[in-house]
Amino acid sequence: MKNSKQIAVGNVLVGGGAPIAIQSMTTTKTSDVAATVRQIDRLTMAGCEIIRVAVPDKASALAIEQIKADTTIPIVADIHFDHTLALLAIERGVDKIRINPGNIGNAQKVRAVADAAKARNIPIRIGVNGGSLEPDIVQAHGHTPMAMAESALRHIALLNRWDFDNICLSVKSSTVADTIRAYRLLRERTSYPLHLGVTEAGTSYMGTIKNAIAIGSLLLDGIGDTLRVSLTDDPVEEIRAARAILQAIGLRQFGINLVSCPMCGRCEIDLITLAKEVEQKLAPITVPITVAVMGCAVNGPGEAKAADYGIACGKGEGLLFCKGQISHKMPLENLADALVDLIKKDVMSTT
Ligand code: SF4
Repeated sequence: MKNSKQIAVGNVLVGGGAPIAIQSMTTTKTSDVAATVRQIDRLTMAGCEIIRVAVPDKASALAIEQIKADTTIPIVADIHFDHTLALLAIERGVDKIRINPGNIGNAQKVRAVADAAKARNIPIRIGVNGGSLEPDIVQAHGHTPMAMAESALRHIALLNRWDFDNICLSVKSSTVADTIRAYRLLRERTSYPLHLGVTEAGTSYMGTIKNAIAIGSLLLDGIGDTLRVSLTDDPVEEIRAARAILQAIGLRQFGINLVSCPMCGRCEIDLITLAKEVEQKLAPITVPITVAVMGCAVNGPGEAKAADYGIACGKGEGLLFCKGQISHKMPLENLADALVDLIKKDVMSTT
């Protein structure tokens, strides 16, 4: 968001008004370079803009050099406890480190990581997780949003002590309400860019809903600069969900915005099949347009007129709209194909 500090993760800007960047995390063994690169390629194709890899051992840190050489998006090394792995990942060209300085031991180890990251202009994300807070903070604040915010501030101070300021923050809880409160508290107290998400959000359906509520609420309040939708699923699903969330709240658009009605007793056609068919056929189009697929003549013409393109179905026939005007009246069975053809022709002529 505009009022946050801006950092650069490789060639992707985060914060300070830059577009909200979409992240995910690989599920492969990072030391298996071929499998990791294959997964990063799939994620990149799906729209991932920054990818995090787990670095639990030396082989994973060493693999970063080849993974960087074989991929195109910035790589983040996820490290817990062992600061030598952070130093090795930095040496091997990683674009960002996720590490909590309070977990890596004495001040000299923190200094070593801060100095190495500073020398290469690499940001560090402090990632506070509601499930692993420091005992004294839990003693003082319980397992609360305040405890998460306090923990983040403590980690920040450990880096600031060594004059390190290239920081991004996350305070994720597995509870939607706590996640939202923790980020709000943090935003009041720092201007570092914020990485949003609900942790351990569950499987695809419920996990997407939890993330959409937390991330959506925060972004609509002007809080947040990058995000990951954590799901127990293929990480490509995380990217699809992230894009849908950003598109739904109007912050980014990645292709068509489909407006379609829920149907009611006035609907004379199989609108479910029709809407899905239109959506599927227009999926390759990356131009940001709004397309309305409406079930009857009550609300249909209004929505179809307001969209860039639309159809309003009636009894046996329907209307095709283009840029606010009725373009054709035709039998129902021809409507979907006519709509798709019209859009493809129009889009191709302007790109
Ligand atoms: Fe019902 Fe027509 Fe509204 Fe669709 S557009 S929900 S069919 S009234």
